[in-house]
Amino acid sequence: MSSNKIRKLDETLINRIAAGEVVVRPCSAIKELIENSLDASSHQIHVYVKQGGLKRIEIRDDGCGILKDDLPLLCERFATSKLSSVDDLYQLNTYGFRGEALASLSYASHLTVITKVKDSPCAYTCTYEDGKIKNQVKPCAGTNGTTLIVEDLFYNNSLRLKMMKSLDEYHRIVDCVQKLALRNTHVSFQLKHDQQLDCDILTLPSTTLYQNMKQLYGPEIVRDMYDITISKHALYLFECKAYFTGTNYSSSSSSKSQAIFILFINGRLVDCQPLKKQILSMYALYVSKSTLPFVYVDLQMEPSTLDVNIHPSKSEVRFLNSEQIIQIIVKQIEDVLVQKSAKHSTTQLT
Ligand code: ADP
Ligand code: MG
Repeated sequence: MSSNKIRKLDETLINRIAAGEVVVRPCSAIKELIENSLDASSHQIHVYVKQGGLKRIEIRDDGCGILKDDLPLLCERFATSKLSSVDDLYQLNTYGFRGEALASLSYASHLTVITKVKDSPCAYTCTYEDGKIKNQVKPCAGTNGTTLIVEDLFYNNSLRLKMMKSLDEYHRIVDCVQKLALRNTHVSFQLKHDQQLDCDILTLPSTTLYQNMKQLYGPEIVRDMYDITISKHALYLFECKAYFTGTNYSSSSSSKSQAIFILFINGRLVDCQPLKKQILSMYALYVSKSTLPFVYVDLQMEPSTLDVNIHPSKSEVRFLNSEQIIQIIVKQIEDVLVQKSAKHSTTQLT
């Protein structure tokens, strides 16, 4: 084979390729935008989507807002207000740090921002394309906080667009907003779609996890619910709080076709396939196949033992001593299931 000449990719192409990794589908855009609103100390986050987020995603928060002078930089790749040195990467206390979400959205959609900081007499708005501000920053009416509007997501990626169906995408969005709303009890979330007047998701501000569980997943979920608490494990120094349905819980009344497994590590909604797999296989020993458990795990660990920087979407994580930590958690949940829940079911049956 004759060797072809190596050329550097054009910068716009590089950024479009990278954007496809950060914003995989509408719900990944929504997760990034909600995390930005949470980083901005919002107490209200309203999400409105059209056509499963493919036509329009609008997220309005009442957070700190963005300074007018920062707007030209907002969508530049690797521009962030949250990370300034390598050391910060291992002591993260914000969701964002890569400065890539808004840049990616500007490469993959038509992006508009309206924002107002508390001390400003008015709000400002502008639009972005391919990482750059498209027009001049204009003053406009608006309340304190930020609204981001993402239109025509993947308009320039026809293959990606063809692979998405609005209804499936909307289900993924509901799933993602439910999970984020569940844990962030200090924030009132709203989710609406298309012409619908009622909210699909509505949580109260300053509520409790228990209230949110009922509100978001239905009251039947808390009727056979158990929990474990591991406070500062002596050897591996992690903390864990988990809530999970017992062996009597029957999800047949709900329309869910899959078990619900929700994992937060250091406040971050993440996936950890080994933990999910081991918990669900343990459940399979005690409940029938048609019973789909609900499991919520909230883990806290030393930031220096957690690597969230595996993929641009930050969804899969790795952590030190994961095998041992997973084993400890699964064992504790199993013990409770066996001792309390299964016992409860035998007494009920006899
Ligand atoms: P990151 O969150 O990794 O910093 P983003 O591209 O998501 O990168 O956001 C870039 C910057 O824009 C943030 O660092 C923050 O300063 C600002 N920003 C984005 N969304 C909001 C928001 N809703 N409220 C206030 N500031 C925001
Ligand atoms: Mg961000």
